[in-house]
Amino acid sequence: MQDERKLDVFIPGYIKDLVPYPPGKPLEELEREYGIKNAIKLASNENPLGPSPKACKAVEEALGKLHRYPDGSSYYLKNRLAARFNVSPGQIVLGNGSNELIEFMVRVLIRPGSEVISSEPSFLVYRKAVQAVGGINVVIPLKDNRHDLRAIKGAVTEGTRIIFLDNPNNPTGSVIDSEDICAFLAVLPDNIVVVFDEAYMEFVRNGATRSGLEFLKNDRRVVTLRTFSKAYGLAGLRIGYGIMDAALAGYLERVRQPFNINSLAQAGALAALDDDEHLDKTLKATWEGLDFFYKALDELGCTVLPSHANFLLVDVHSDAKKVYDDMLRHGVIVRAMNAYGFPRHIRITMGLPYENERCVEALRQVLANRQGGENNVQTA
Ligand SMILES: *Cc1c(COP(=O)(O)O)cnc(C)c1O
Repeated sequence: MQDERKLDVFIPGYIKDLVPYPPGKPLEELEREYGIKNAIKLASNENPLGPSPKACKAVEEALGKLHRYPDGSSYYLKNRLAARFNVSPGQIVLGNGSNELIEFMVRVLIRPGSEVISSEPSFLVYRKAVQAVGGINVVIPLKDNRHDLRAIKGAVTEGTRIIFLDNPNNPTGSVIDSEDICAFLAVLPDNIVVVFDEAYMEFVRNGATRSGLEFLKNDRRVVTLRTFSKAYGLAGLRIGYGIMDAALAGYLERVRQPFNINSLAQAGALAALDDDEHLDKTLKATWEGLDFFYKALDELGCTVLPSHANFLLVDVHSDAKKVYDDMLRHGVIVRAMNAYGFPRHIRITMGLPYENERCVEALRQVLANRQGGENNVQTA
């Protein structure tokens, strides 16, 4: 006990105040607990079609070499990505999921007291990574469900080092207008790094926004993050990448561990990049899902934000946590958004057609029951 308390005084307050990521239970456990079968998971913005078959084959072929350390430079994957995006391999840094790129950025640029600006709600990982090293999170509320670039610019101080912008935004699915990106970059001090987290960029239709990549040539402050976890269906492999100025990339390379990208991830990602067919199918299924849900949810009386990603933020006009729980009993797992400051919203990931239909049907029954239930309470 005594020793524990001694250790405790060395733990900084900002570490003690971190909130652990809520550990979701395995699907199989949930099914047992709730006595349900064939539950469907539309909660984590994963690819409902599964991984690319080409990626699976490449991973299988790499299995025989698991006794070897991976290629620490990820030579083939970096070169392949460099060719695709017309940058040099030295401008690409790979991470154990794009989550790790967020940590690298923070480790390189942030020390206790440095300021980092992000939006609320947006991806919670930015704030966590910053707090974990004693940085200061400056959090700007979305305006009309979009990044409020004017307010973000207004929050910049001498101490600001990084601005994180998820474009599209998670959880609203909104994007930044193309012209707004140019205007924003034009008025920012030139020693601030702007990180565009483009985890969902593949899903954006009709050029609704622009990628940070378009600005990198003339603007060394711009960092673009991408991932294989969403459109490419490889969330379980943990691989993502950042594209940035070569000098900055060099610093990120210095802080990473030598073998952060395992050999299966390298093989799978490389093959997935060549599987245009799978990507096309994924985008088609996602867009059809969105169009289906817009109509169906409207008929249920829910309010939906137009989304440029593979998920929808849905105002169910009812306690989201309870709706989430009731849907679980119907075997449909969605995400309750109360932790993001949306007590009446759930987030639904686009699934296969039968999953989307089951989700709408479950929501229909849950909302009908809830209305009945609430009326009962009122009359009781
Ligand atoms: C899902 C997601 C990611 C991807 O994280 P990985 O570590 O690559 O799996 C990154 N940013 C946002 C906003 C996301 O929603």
